[in-house]
Order: sequence, then C-alpha cells, then structure tokens
Amino acid sequence: MSEANLKRERLRINEIFHSLQGEADAVGYPTVFVRLTGCPLRCQYCDTEYAFHAGDWHDLDAIAERVSSFGARHVCVTGGEPLAQPNCLTLLTRLCDAGFEVSLETSGALDIAEVDARVSRVVDVKTPGSREAARNRIENFPLLTQRDQLKFVICSREDYDWSKAYLREHGLSARCQVLFSPSYTQVPPATLAEWILADRLQVRFQLQLHKILWGDVAGK
Ligand code: SF4
Repeated sequence: MSEANLKRERLRINEIFHSLQGEADAVGYPTVFVRLTGCPLRCQYCDTEYAFHAGDWHDLDAIAERVSSFGARHVCVTGGEPLAQPNCLTLLTRLCDAGFEVSLETSGALDIAEVDARVSRVVDVKTPGSREAARNRIENFPLLTQRDQLKFVICSREDYDWSKAYLREHGLSARCQVLFSPSYTQVPPATLAEWILADRLQVRFQLQLHKILWGDVAGK
C-alpha cells in the first residue's frame, strides 16, 4: 500500500477509554469512547479542550482492535469534532460492520450526510451562550431521523428562550429526540427542569451522568 493510502486509513486519536455513556439515548450503558483529536469550534463551555491538539495517529485496524478489547456492545465516536477528520466516516462504518451499537457526537457545524445510516447521531445545536451559534449547519436538519438526537446545552434563561424559539422556527421536535442539558456550573439543573415543566415543553431533560459520578475529569 502506498504512503498516501496508509494515511487515508489512519485517524488522529486523543484517547480510547471504557466508561458509562453519560448522555443521550444510550445513557448508562457501558461504552467504549473513541475521542478524535481536533475541533474547528471554540465553545466557551468546552470540557474537552485537551483534545484540540493532543493525539497520536493510529490505523483503523488498531482502533477497531482496541475497541473490541473492552468487550462492550456500545461505542461512541466523539471529539473534539470527529467529522473534522474524513476517515471518521470509514471508522463508523467499520464499527457498525463489526456489530457494535455506534453513536457519533458531533458539533452540528459539519455535514452529517455521509455518516453511515446505522449510526445514532447526537448533533449539537449551538446556542448563543456557546458563542458558536453562527456555526449551526441547518442543512443537517432534514437529514435527521428518529435514530438521532439534537442536543442543546443551555447556558442561561436567554439561551433557553432562544432554544424554544429555534425548535419552533425549524420544526425540530418532530424530526428526532430533542435533548436539553444545563451547561455544567452555569445553570442549576433544577432551574432548567422547572422551566421545561412550566412551559410544558416536549423535550428530554438530561444531566451528564459521568460528571455526577466522577466530576469533570478526562477519560470518564
Ligand atoms: S464543538 Fe465540542 S469539542 Fe468543539 S469546542 Fe465545542 S464543546 Fe468543545
């Protein structure tokens, strides 16, 4: 194989670890996380800044082997922004072919059209409080199915009101599950829960289970 071909089969990986899924539809399941290096966004609340630059190149066979070694059924490919590395698409398909339940966590700023249809896509909608709302790729919305989830991280009451209006404007509630999370340390969880209940808003409240269990640490 030429050097160029070898490069096409590689990904820059920040970490691979085994934990409980802390968010979205597979919450609570033992899951292997594959964290890819790099992200073109800079959300003010980012808790994975350590993944912006650090990481080593691995070929896809080695990544798949490492994932299998944990014996988990669920795999989550995350970042950073995993879709910033085009080979991510190949990895996702390979993991699906191997029989894993595969999810992808993505910022919502990049095209999700080529992601394998067997993958459950967890797509962020960046609120103004993230300081990256201009990056939301609305062309992704028609591609969402009931397998997918849209995630809003709410940083303030203004963010919450903006998110409600955004859901209506783009007709998002009918497309897929909609998740509202309080930004860690910025909105008290009970406050967000009260807002949702008061408005009879048909969204799914969620907390980051891994942070409740272990705090804000890498590799969990
Ligand atoms: S998209 Fe995710 S990884 Fe990238 S800066 Fe925002 S929170 Fe961090």
